[in-house]
Amino acid sequence: MNDAPFIKKKILIIEDEKDILFTLKDFLESENYLVLTAENGFEAMKLLQTSGMPDLILLDMKMPIMNGWEFAIEFLDKHDHQSPMVVITAAADAEKRAKDISAVGWVEKPFDLEVLLKTIKRYEKK
Ligand SMILES: [Mg+2]
Repeated sequence: MNDAPFIKKKILIIEDEKDILFTLKDFLESENYLVLTAENGFEAMKLLQTSGMPDLILLDMKMPIMNGWEFAIEFLDKHDHQSPMVVITAAADAEKRAKDISAVGWVEKPFDLEVLLKTIKRYEKK
């Protein structure tokens, strides 16, 4: 028997479409992740002041108030590369979008949850 506590990996999802946000949250919780959510970049920056750095950030690009591009600039300025970012986007140029904001990867919408999970496991902080 191992008494060592199992430390859950922490994922921050930033997504303005609530159905997508909660689908992802439920799925990742079922995979034993601790999930934080924000509906735009501004809300995410505020949350990060108290939550500590997540092991990975899933970032939508088109959002009101503060979009994914604006969030990435502010996050990198304040926190450097402390959390890897993975872009979630329906755009055909997902790879370019990811590179533009120094994200480590991308997942295309509509997602295949297994592909999403593989991508998270590949890039999450070890
Ligand atoms: Mg959006």
